[in-house]
Amino acid sequence: MTKAMKQFEVLEWASLFLQQHNRERNVAEILLQHFLGVDRSKFYTMMRETVPEHILQSFQQAIQEHAETGIPVQHIIGYEMFYGRKFAVNEQVLIPRPETEELVDYVIQNIQHDTSKETKTIVDIGTGSGVIAITLALQLQNVRVYGTDISAEALRVAKQNGKQLEATIQFRQGDFLKPLMDEGIKVDWVISNPPYIAWEEEMTLQDTVKNFDPSLALFAKENGLYAYQQIIRDLPHVLNHGGKVAFEIGETQGEAVQSLLKQTLSTSTITIKQDINQKDRMVIAHLP
Ligand code: GLN
Repeated sequence: MTKAMKQFEVLEWASLFLQQHNRERNVAEILLQHFLGVDRSKFYTMMRETVPEHILQSFQQAIQEHAETGIPVQHIIGYEMFYGRKFAVNEQVLIPRPETEELVDYVIQNIQHDTSKETKTIVDIGTGSGVIAITLALQLQNVRVYGTDISAEALRVAKQNGKQLEATIQFRQGDFLKPLMDEGIKVDWVISNPPYIAWEEEMTLQDTVKNFDPSLALFAKENGLYAYQQIIRDLPHVLNHGGKVAFEIGETQGEAVQSLLKQTLSTSTITIKQDINQKDRMVIAHLP
C-alpha cells in the first residue's frame, strides 16, 4: 500500500483484501472508523481526506490480523452493540448475537403487558457480558435483576458494563441456579442463553467463533442440552407461582427442551418461538 491514501481508497483496498480472504467486507469500515476515532456520520464526510500514516499502519495491521486469524472485530474495538447500547466484550465472554436481542425483546414485551404493579424479580443465568440482565434492568420499571455466571472473569466484564451503563444488577458467581438457592432467593422470571452447542459440532463452527468465543459459553455436554437439564432440574426451588422461563435454544433443540420443561413443570404452558430467520430459537414456559 502506498502512502498518502485518501480514506475512500483505504476503504476500497481493505474491503477487497477482506473479500479475497473470505472475510466480511464491512469489517473495513468498522475498523477504520474505530482507528480514526469518529462516528459513522462524521466518517462519511471525511472520505476524500488523507488518512494519517500512523492510523493507516494500525488499521492495516488490524485488517491483516482479522483476515489471517479470524479475530472478531469486536475483540479489536472492544465492544458490541446490543439493544442499542454499547457493551464491552473480550475473550472471557460470548459476543452477544442478534438472536438474543429477540429473546430479551420477548421478555420486555411480556412484562410490559403484565398489568400487576408488583416488582418482578428476574434472573439471567450465565450472564456473560451482562447484556440480558442489564438491558432488562434498563428497559423495565419495577424489576429486581440478578445475573449469575460461573466465570469470575465474565462477571468482571458484566459488572463493568453494569457500572458503565448505570444499571443496578445483583451479580452472583456460581453454577446455574445454585447461587440463588444458596440464598433462598425466589424469582418471577428465569432467563438464559446458556451454552447449547454440542461438542461434536465444534469442527463445523467458524474460526471467528470457535477460536475466540469462550468454550464455556458455547459448548455443552449431552448433545448441547446439559445446561438446560441443570437449570430445569432446579427451577421448582426458585420459581414463584405464576413464574416464567425464557431460554434461547439451538435451532434443533426446541422439542427436547420443551419435554425437559414439561417433565419438571408439568402444569406449565410451553411454547417454542422462532427467530426472524424462522429458526426455532426460544422456549418459553409459563406456570399457572
Ligand atoms: N448462538 C451462538 C452461536 O451460534 C451460541 C451461543 C450459545 O451457545 N448460547 O454461536
